[in-house]
Amino acid sequence: MKIGVCLKQVPATDTRIRINADATAILTDDVKFEINPYDEYALEEALRLKQAGKATEVITFTVGGADAEARIRDGLARGADRAVRIDDPALAGSDGLGLARVLAAALKAEGVGLVFAGRQSVDGDSSTVPAMIAELMGASQVSWVDKFEVEGDAFTAQRAAGGGMREVVTGKLPVVASCDKGLNTPRYATLPGILKAKSKKIGVMSVAELGVDAGSVGAGAALVTFTNMGPPPERPAGRILSGDTASAVSELVRLLRDEAKVI
Ligand SMILES: Cc1cc2nc3c(=O)[nH]c(=O)nc-3n(C[C@H](O)[C@H](O)[C@H](O)COP(=O)(O)OP(=O)(O)OC[C@H]3O[C@@H](n4cnc5c(N)ncnc54)[C@H](O)[C@@H]3O)c2cc1C
Repeated sequence: MKIGVCLKQVPATDTRIRINADATAILTDDVKFEINPYDEYALEEALRLKQAGKATEVITFTVGGADAEARIRDGLARGADRAVRIDDPALAGSDGLGLARVLAAALKAEGVGLVFAGRQSVDGDSSTVPAMIAELMGASQVSWVDKFEVEGDAFTAQRAAGGGMREVVTGKLPVVASCDKGLNTPRYATLPGILKAKSKKIGVMSVAELGVDAGSVGAGAALVTFTNMGPPPERPAGRILSGDTASAVSELVRLLRDEAKVI
């Protein structure tokens, strides 16, 4: 069985994000990129299943430009066998559905039986792409998985269901599972892995090569458009209460009750 891993590059979590002049996108100059942290769990789970003899090949799939190749090589250095990068001018302005269309087509063309993705990207945060891929592939879907097992053509996944409750989800392959923290501990690339990755293949596919109608992706087909984004409001400056302890405490209680309204 082949396993597909959806791998997106995102701004590093310690990057200071700046927004463009018309407040519709982040400025990417000076931004350091990394593999989306949740996609690291997805890749690790795929690699573990391959090591356990449950998969023959691990292939990563990325929609993005050539600037994403350093992150794709990182995935190959950690142990993925090869990668597919989908790149096409027709994808400009795509929403999640446009992305899901090309990802589903590429995953289907490779005949993967199991797909791991992140539970959300830490920049877009919509948490919608994996479910849409599953629908378009006609596959089972389970989201925010923190334990996963596969036996033959059946899978068992576990997920947190709120309030400390757990859900156990079973189903048949093919499945698209979005991966949460706690599923595993992602490995780092080793030096031999980095050297080996240099000769691993990154296949670049266009929308037409995937058999996807160019009119069903990109800005013209987007059902969702981001119209405005911005930083959170500035936090007000802190206040230091003066005077003796008793009056400072009484003032603190008053502020917490009357101004902050937290007690
Ligand atoms: C070529 C391109 C053009 C775009 N143009 C615009 C634009 O003009 N305006 C705009 O607002 N947004 C644009 N986007 C952003 C795009 O709309 C979002 O990336 C998309 O909706 C996914 O949403 P999300 O990041 O919230 O994914 P989520 O649903 O939160 O992601 C969950 C998981 O899906 C997988 N996944 C998501 N994206 C990718 C990817 N690119 N490759 C591989 N796996 C992935 C990952 O495993 C990820 O962890 C563009 C993106 C691309 C790649």
